[in-house]
Amino acid sequence: MEEIYSEFYLARCQKKLKNWGAPLDGWFCKEIIDVREDDEEAPLATCELCDCSKVRFVHVMDHLLYFEELRVGCICAGVMQGNILAAQERERQMKNRAKRRKNFLKKKWNQKYGGYYRKQFWLVYKHKLLEIKVDSENKHFVSCNQGKPVCSYKGRPIDNFYSAVYAAFDLADPLEDIL
Ligand SMILES: [Zn+2]
Repeated sequence: MEEIYSEFYLARCQKKLKNWGAPLDGWFCKEIIDVREDDEEAPLATCELCDCSKVRFVHVMDHLLYFEELRVGCICAGVMQGNILAAQERERQMKNRAKRRKNFLKKKWNQKYGGYYRKQFWLVYKHKLLEIKVDSENKHFVSCNQGKPVCSYKGRPIDNFYSAVYAAFDLADPLEDIL
């Protein structure tokens, strides 16, 4: 196998963890965030462990014996987890998901008329029925396979079609599948 990080890099990461009194391994990834998910120009993140400032996919690492989580890039996540390949696989899946999302956003939604809602749209994606319903107060309700409707995206109430489409993608292609 090719060497993907140097002994020097590894030693430096471990030294930093030691200085913080943090465990050297046994970390797990509880969340992964694409900082450019909604905006391709958004600033990249900085790895809290090696200070690399070009992190697009932030691996949020947690440990049962440490009081806080650390937000790091792919290789540092691999070091902390004790499994570089697993971290790289996560990163690869995030890249693929970002591509799927880009295609998803181009899809045309079908409109449905009549009924209680002011507007209704639907789309079938990956064999799932996605629906967006808009009420008279412009509240958007998003559902997948007629499950419980979601009416917020990234913690904010959905009041426009774009956010509704973003929320629909998260329901159809959940991030949790990658972890
Ligand atoms: Zn790093």
